Amino acid sequence: MSFDIRKIVRPHIVNLKPYSSARDEFDPTEKEYVYLDANENPFPNGVNRYPDPQQRNLKKVLGHRLGVGTEQLLLGNGSDEILDLIFRAFCTPNTDRIITMPPTYGMYKVLAEINCITLDEVSLSDDFQLVTKDIIKRISPQTKAIFLCSPNNPSGNSFRAEDIQKLLESFSGIVVVDEAYIDFAPQESWVSQLSTYPNLIVTQTLSKAYGMAGIRLGICVASKDIISILHKIKPPYNINSLTQERAIEELSNSKKYIAQVQLLLEERKRLEVQLQSTSFVDVVYPSDANFLLVRVDDAAKRYHQLVKEGVVVRNRSNQQGCAECLRFSVGTAEENKKLISILNRLS
Ligand SMILES: *Cc1c(COP(=O)(O)O)cnc(C)c1O
Repeated sequence: MSFDIRKIVRPHIVNLKPYSSARDEFDPTEKEYVYLDANENPFPNGVNRYPDPQQRNLKKVLGHRLGVGTEQLLLGNGSDEILDLIFRAFCTPNTDRIITMPPTYGMYKVLAEINCITLDEVSLSDDFQLVTKDIIKRISPQTKAIFLCSPNNPSGNSFRAEDIQKLLESFSGIVVVDEAYIDFAPQESWVSQLSTYPNLIVTQTLSKAYGMAGIRLGICVASKDIISILHKIKPPYNINSLTQERAIEELSNSKKYIAQVQLLLEERKRLEVQLQSTSFVDVVYPSDANFLLVRVDDAAKRYHQLVKEGVVVRNRSNQQGCAECLRFSVGTAEENKKLISILNRLS
């Protein structure tokens, strides 16, 4: 495998001159300046100024946490925006292709459709693992990216490290590892492998373990070269100032999140045991995430029964390999108790 970023990036983006914002052209320093450069309202209210387009302070905190330099980070309005930037940087509409492995996160397919990219799907095995031999067979000269979600949504399992490694080594395009649920998994993040694999992009998010789905902050970690390309095409002020401030504030209290993740893992275990002894549950799939995929006797029936009782779960039955499956997010101890008592009452 030889990875040459110039062969992968869309040609017009190589020479693209990105939009240069007022805050890009003038770097704020300690000195008190009078800012008359961005047509902002000058009266202070906490948000009257444009946010830092480079998110320097937040990137320092995240870089420290992830053990990478800030030049290896790109932030997005949720990881969904990052996934879209990856399509727009590397995949030429009506020409290029990507590979995904269903059942998996639905956004890859939607983004492929929005960007007019052909989607080649290679099913996961019955135990939701990668079938690397089949994936490698599907790679064509037009294949620009492979999207892996590990731990995978909706199945909950992590993929075997040796399979991901095999793909990184056999494919000369981009391999995206979506680690939205990595904080719940025993495996190490692929961030530690970035110096070995120049074609690797890892995405993470503050939406799940960090409890900040509402502020929309996705994290992309990759080589300096890949990050600088994505930076060229990102909207200049994609991370608003409230998000930047709140993320820095919350990340300074990491003890709280470590404790919450620990609690959710204990709750997942408890929920797993109790679901296994529920009369209409056939299979509880092993999970490295904050949810459980569960095969029941009749998913539509059980889904509606639960809604009637005031509990909303996700019916994943229409996903490949997930017939009659419901996906349960792990709630608080109290919420899970309520769920279990309802499940025990249903017949
Ligand atoms: C929830 C989820 C995301 C979305 O993350 P945001 O940062 O909230 O956009 C990405 N990937 C997977 C697999 C998810 O389940």
